[in-house]
Amino acid sequence: MEDIYNIDLTDFGTLLILYGGILAILLIRYFFMSGLYYGVFLILFKEKYGNKVLTRKMPTRDQIKRELKLSIYSTFVFGAVTIGLIWLWQKNYTQIYSDPFQYPLWYVPISIAIFLLLHDTYYYWLHKWMHHSRWLIKVHNAHHQSVNTTVWTSFSFHPVESFLQAIIVPILLVLVPMHPIAILIVLLIMTVSAIINHAGVEVYPGKPSFDKFRKYVIGATHHDIHHRRANKNFGLYFTFWDRLMKTEYEG
Ligand SMILES: [Zn+2]
Ligand SMILES: [Zn+2]
Repeated sequence: MEDIYNIDLTDFGTLLILYGGILAILLIRYFFMSGLYYGVFLILFKEKYGNKVLTRKMPTRDQIKRELKLSIYSTFVFGAVTIGLIWLWQKNYTQIYSDPFQYPLWYVPISIAIFLLLHDTYYYWLHKWMHHSRWLIKVHNAHHQSVNTTVWTSFSFHPVESFLQAIIVPILLVLVPMHPIAILIVLLIMTVSAIINHAGVEVYPGKPSFDKFRKYVIGATHHDIHHRRANKNFGLYFTFWDRLMKTEYEG
């Protein structure tokens, strides 16, 4: 992790290579994870999940093209915010710690939970604000143009929204001590949950033993309702805020 401190962000060439590398990782992550998810749940196990498909209409070619274009724009924004985070890290403004024993090991899952809860809170209120602000609703509509969502909708946002969504990551890392492994886990959860919520197929088990999980953790059905009824279900990972603020769709 000491390597981070050796990157010379004042050198234009270095900055360009770094930005290019980050963009490549983010794009591979998007195409690989979304493609894999689609392949597993909608092709490989089509029989098993066929009756759990939420999408009423096949997405048009234009929808997919728009989602891919916006997701690639998002990547440019996420990449720039990542450079900003590396700069903050180098200047020791963040609480990122590289020595895994600086905090007890049990703190690693705790830090992940704190991050997710704070991120969920930020997103709920940002999301609600975006639905109520006359200017931001236009920005947020880029995402809502997809009513029958797909795995490609997962990062399909207007660049302004991508920035508002991404900026919370460096902010939280200035506040919450986290090991880089915990950060990677959180980024993975972010990616997977965005895909789960937009893929248009409910993959959470319907068994009674999963009742509590489905009640508190947001999945495809919950977020699909948001894309159909924009005044309900604003949450990101958990249903706490929707339940508390009475914005959860009760059918
Ligand atoms: Zn969405
Ligand atoms: Zn929305």
